[in-house]
Amino acid sequence: MKNVNKTNDKEKFRPVVGIDLGTTNSAVAYIRYGKPEIISSPNGKELIPSVVHVDTSGKIVVGKDAASALVAMPSRTIAAVKRKMGSSESIDIAGKKLLPHEISSLILKELKGYVDRVFGEGEKEAVITVPAYFTDEQRRETKLAGELAGFIVERIINEPTAAALAFGFEHIDENSHILVYDLGGGTFDVSVVEMMDGILEVKASTGNNYLGGEDFDWKLVDLFAEKMIAKHRVDPREDLRGRALLKEEAEKAKILLSTEESVRVSLPIVTVRENQPLGFEIVLHRKDFVQLIDEMLLETIDSVRNVLKEAKLRSADLDEILLVGGSTRIPRVAELISDFFQKEPRVDIHPEEAVVLGAAIQAGLKSGVLSKDGLIVTDVTPYSMGIAVLKEWQGLAIHPGGFHVIIPKNTTIPTTRSEMFCTSRAGQSAVSIEIFQGESEWAKKNHILGDFLLEGIPPNHAGAEEIEVVFRYNINGILEVTAKCVSTGEQMSVTVQDALVRNSQELYLESVNRLQEFLKKATSSDEEEWEGFQIMMQEMLQEEEEDDEYEDELTHDELREEAITLSERTKAMVGNYRGNERRQIKQMVSKLNKAILKDDFEELQTAIDKVTDKLIDLEM
Ligand code: AMP
Repeated sequence: MKNVNKTNDKEKFRPVVGIDLGTTNSAVAYIRYGKPEIISSPNGKELIPSVVHVDTSGKIVVGKDAASALVAMPSRTIAAVKRKMGSSESIDIAGKKLLPHEISSLILKELKGYVDRVFGEGEKEAVITVPAYFTDEQRRETKLAGELAGFIVERIINEPTAAALAFGFEHIDENSHILVYDLGGGTFDVSVVEMMDGILEVKASTGNNYLGGEDFDWKLVDLFAEKMIAKHRVDPREDLRGRALLKEEAEKAKILLSTEESVRVSLPIVTVRENQPLGFEIVLHRKDFVQLIDEMLLETIDSVRNVLKEAKLRSADLDEILLVGGSTRIPRVAELISDFFQKEPRVDIHPEEAVVLGAAIQAGLKSGVLSKDGLIVTDVTPYSMGIAVLKEWQGLAIHPGGFHVIIPKNTTIPTTRSEMFCTSRAGQSAVSIEIFQGESEWAKKNHILGDFLLEGIPPNHAGAEEIEVVFRYNINGILEVTAKCVSTGEQMSVTVQDALVRNSQELYLESVNRLQEFLKKATSSDEEEWEGFQIMMQEMLQEEEEDDEYEDELTHDELREEAITLSERTKAMVGNYRGNERRQIKQMVSKLNKAILKDDFEELQTAIDKVTDKLIDLEM
């Protein structure tokens, strides 16, 4: 039998690679001769810039060459797309529009090419890392990006967990508490990990998905722009190329300030006005730069405090502090950390490579190349997850309701939790299960993950029918929810995962279409295969849509009754409020009363929603 692994024929393995899809840089690694090793790009680079460029002939360029085009051709070049994952914001590139995960898939496709050079062409399994604080949606989009690039995404793991794995792999005999402080280009994460007899247990994780080196660069861009406005009354940020140039210089200056006390930034041409080149010059001192970003850095120390609290540890309990991510090279970061812990962080780990090496170790454990009894890792849920419920509040049952947590934040995963709920109205035949992720006691203030309707509940008294809701959070950090009507048994159960899969199939199809259009490289046989696949998927989606149609949950009479109760109770509460708030409540009650008189279903529903939304806002 032919061995596809050209470089490593000693070990029998199914190739599973580890990927760090970073805001600034990305990399792919695998286990070679029992150790993680990065697969370098054809020009010998371990990390490639996460930048995508479309050249003038329409060719896609990813990595270093793409990064070089950021200033020259900003409208054809995209950087830091990871910051937009989960936003469904369309991104313009070379006159076309792509979604963030589609652009990410182009970066992953480039990495896939490196993997294919080692193992030969074909589908490969991959473990991809994400910030611990990524939402379920951001995780799913990352998985989707991997699939679009031709990987079978075996697992999504948290970046600080991967970094801890890379460390744990080298220090397997130590028993210690480790703090992983991960400040990269776009995100910040901090995790507390306990290492005991080869078991790495993540105790708690927190962070900020929108804080990193990019923000520091933009602070400097603003400073440079102010300088130009003062000198020439021109804002260079309004010009796409000027903006890209300032950003590039800002990052260079920032990096230099990690080793130098001061730098001179001299740009004679940033933009042009009336054929006159306009530029600026500035001498930047490290302390001025620190002043610009200190508030953000201090915020990260607040997160460190919080994560310790959640892990129920004191700063003195931490044995090791790992600094991960390129932005931890800023000397002020190490200074704040060592002041806080009264201990120096480790210097023997590579801040930019630890994550991908850890991902490769996880991939090695998965494929069996690394022995499973050597190292085991557990993780935690970064957010609480639960469902919307009717929430009793000042004697009112209000909509859309409160948030009932089923899996609390920082629960060790994989985990399964179940809870019993009951019907709230007589004769209720269906319950709507709305799933949220977040920490607010109000569902609408959290992030919705999905919803579905459990139908076929036998008519009974209010509270008589029990519904069991089961949450399963798997090792990939992806949730499945099932609801079951206890009295009728299994056939009444519905899983949310069906809904999630359906969405992602739709999303997958749309993405493949857009990417195909974008790349315009399909061969005719690919196209035929593709058309067949599309027809099959569309038929499937249509069938599911038909299954999904359901009646409104409340009857007209029930809705009217609810509106009357809400109106009476809200009126009774008006006395608790003063001024503007009191006026607003009165106005809404009056609108609600008008809707009751008119007795129109839609208007009643809208008026009820408005009153309850306002009541929730007042409560906040
Ligand atoms: P990462 O996401 O870990 O690749 O980190 C990338 C971020 O680290 C980018 O914002 C870089 O500008 C930043 N970075 C890399 N090296 C340095 C350095 N020496 N000093 C400050 N920031 C750096």
